[in-house]
Amino acid sequence: MTALILVVTACVAGIVACGSTTDPLPKGAIPLVPRVIYPTWWSEVEQCSGETVDFSTVKWYYVPGDGGFQSGTSADVVGVWEPAGNSITLAEYVIDNPLVVRHEMLHAVLKRVDHPPEFFVNACGVLVTH
Ligand SMILES: [Zn+2]
Repeated sequence: MTALILVVTACVAGIVACGSTTDPLPKGAIPLVPRVIYPTWWSEVEQCSGETVDFSTVKWYYVPGDGGFQSGTSADVVGVWEPAGNSITLAEYVIDNPLVVRHEMLHAVLKRVDHPPEFFVNACGVLVTH
């Protein structure tokens, strides 16, 4: 129960977004060439989750600037996975932050916008922000 509360708080505080099935790309998002390390992080998320998804199916974007961005009704978001386009958008300053990037990867691998504790806390908790 405590873990669930932490997850909700993280979303509200805008540390990590929860995604939405209908939102367009965040305002100002531009294409991001995935970092060389991303496939390695992706493999780690596949392993902890037990799911296998082709890394190349995800489209990457970032929002330039020093802070978070607006996503749907959430302000000051640093990362979001959009199921509609299977895209991950990151705030520029977290592009190299493995905990944040892998959090969004976990959404993409699970194909879920929520934060099931069995994955975000238990199976993959050491790899992702939550
Ligand atoms: Zn999330």
